[in-house]
Amino acid sequence: MAQLIVCPSCGAEISSEARQCPHCGHPIKSLENCNGDGAMNRKPDTHLAKAIIATILCCLPLGVVAIVYACKVDSLYAAGDYQGALSASRKASLWGNWSIGVSVFICILYVIFYVALGGFAFLSSIGRTF
Ligand SMILES: [Zn+2]
Repeated sequence: MAQLIVCPSCGAEISSEARQCPHCGHPIKSLENCNGDGAMNRKPDTHLAKAIIATILCCLPLGVVAIVYACKVDSLYAAGDYQGALSASRKASLWGNWSIGVSVFICILYVIFYVALGGFAFLSSIGRTF
């Protein structure tokens, strides 16, 4: 059923069945998923893979938080709460990034620590030989 939507390019009211805006030629088909009708919205990315990778790589609580939000995306979307699902998706991504960022930072600290330790052990072994 045709309904009136607003062209994002020129702001004119046009039929949602139009392929492009008759006023300015802006393509309309791409608007199907974001015209405010909840049923039409695609499910937001859960970022579950990122959350799981982050958790496996570093076993950090941050990764678990990311997984919790990733799972919320599915349940909220299934319940028809698109805004909630979108917000959970953003949080899952954010926590996933934090988790990966923190684990990379800790890895770098470990490397620096062991390089320093190794260097110290090497120097002291030289010191002992001489
Ligand atoms: Zn237009």
